[in-house]
Amino acid sequence: LATLPERLSGIPRRWAERAPQSWALHDGARHWTYAELAAAVDETAALLRTLQVRPGDRLMVVGENCAAQVALIFAAAEVDAWIVNVNGRLSAREVDQILDHSGARRAIYLSMPASPESTAHGQRHGAVSTPSPFGAWMIGALNPDCMPEPAHADPARQVAALIYTTGTTGQPKGVMLTHRNLLFIAAVSSTLRGLTPTDRAYGVLPITHVYGLASVMLGTLYAGACLHLCPRFTPDAVLKAIRDDGLTILQGVPAMYARLLETLGGGEQIASRLRFLYAGGSPLAPSLKAQVQQLFGLPLHNGYGMTETSPTVSQTRLDRPRDDASVGQVIPGVEVRLVDAGGDDVAPGDDGELWVRGPNVMAGYYREPELTAAAMRDGGWLNTGDVARQDADGALFIVGRTKELIIRSGFNVYPLEVETVLNAHPAVTQSAVVGRNAADGNEEVVAFVEIDPRHRVTCEELQHYLAGLLSPYKCPSEIIAMQALPAAATGKILKGQLRQLAQK
Ligand code: ATP
Ligand code: MG
Repeated sequence: LATLPERLSGIPRRWAERAPQSWALHDGARHWTYAELAAAVDETAALLRTLQVRPGDRLMVVGENCAAQVALIFAAAEVDAWIVNVNGRLSAREVDQILDHSGARRAIYLSMPASPESTAHGQRHGAVSTPSPFGAWMIGALNPDCMPEPAHADPARQVAALIYTTGTTGQPKGVMLTHRNLLFIAAVSSTLRGLTPTDRAYGVLPITHVYGLASVMLGTLYAGACLHLCPRFTPDAVLKAIRDDGLTILQGVPAMYARLLETLGGGEQIASRLRFLYAGGSPLAPSLKAQVQQLFGLPLHNGYGMTETSPTVSQTRLDRPRDDASVGQVIPGVEVRLVDAGGDDVAPGDDGELWVRGPNVMAGYYREPELTAAAMRDGGWLNTGDVARQDADGALFIVGRTKELIIRSGFNVYPLEVETVLNAHPAVTQSAVVGRNAADGNEEVVAFVEIDPRHRVTCEELQHYLAGLLSPYKCPSEIIAMQALPAAATGKILKGQLRQLAQK
């Protein structure tokens, strides 16, 4: 930690000195060297000052992965503002909610492929076209009511980013992550992956979310490697980048790998310069993992984390690939506990609520002191709200979320277990299991499934399949097939919407 820069912007600065002509970014159209990136960050920081963005102000940036967004993240860090990155695919209502909750002083709408809705949103908020180092930006009117948050005396403890959670269990919460939180994960990600300046990583995970920001973008640049920015995932774009750009690392979410398999499944093994593949963000079914490993002839590593932990808590190690559902060992510098309802440690090998402590744990939920107090325990422990167990090797297994627990006739059902079995069926691309309140006060299990278009299967056949593998109380009362499950920009299934659908 001693060698970490004070602020995020120390990363491009450091490499602009060490290797100014090395490539930092590639966006499909052009490359930026570290010297060019550092210069663009300086120019952007100067622009932010003329836009009256002050230390402690929130700066909202609406867009999808592009070089301008990267420069804005570092420039905000340079002026000690909090960056609030918002995905351009969100609806105008969702963008409005974040604008209100964050109390942003300025909003910048990057024209890249922002959704028509978010562009319309910018227009409603009086955005005007303004020259920038990256062409014209739509810049919203100044919000004079925005009060800056007090700056932290130690720049490393200053909030760098306000990132909203996915909203799987309720309303999205604004997580305050400091420079130290994000730099710690950048350093750990880059070290555990053995990244060097010759690596080329694929940046398709949205940098508006913490996995794309800390683990992919900052982790890659921390090593002085090159990040290939891609605004939206398509199997063709990934394959083209693997073939033409010599990618060495592919980081994604399980849904992305499922789509790759759907496109390529059964084909020949893919030849590439890739050194390894990595998945995180949501559960990775061992069946999917096995198929992906076969397709690429490489290990698919798995990791676990959450927005509140910047995000990484654990990951499988390059020298110890695993074929099971494990999410790997806890990363260095971070501690975990598995506790029972009374707050005591469970016996080794037992299921317990997962608590985390370390330099990756957030500063708190913005403007939600009660939620922060509910999540943080004495001694700096964060209660993740996930239930896990740990094997004798120290590898963690996620059992499910406490908030998703379905209690059916007095029996506990974790949706994750039912989803894992469903996902192992060859015809099922993705699934999501939720609870439904039944008239008798009981809870029922309802499963939503996305069927691979190459297969034909009925919901009755799936019921029959599950009945052979799960206890009767875990089997869904109803299975509902959907063309596509509702998903966030990160590929995460929006279970809140499904809970409402199931209730109808
Ligand atoms: P909200 O907190 O708003 O309800 P969310 O928890 O889905 O939404 P994120 O911070 O994006 O928001 O997701 C973190 C959660 O994702 C973890 O708490 C865990 O439940 C789940 N998760 C992440 N990675 C994995 C993984 N590898 N295996 C299983 N679950 C995972
Ligand atoms: Mg959460």
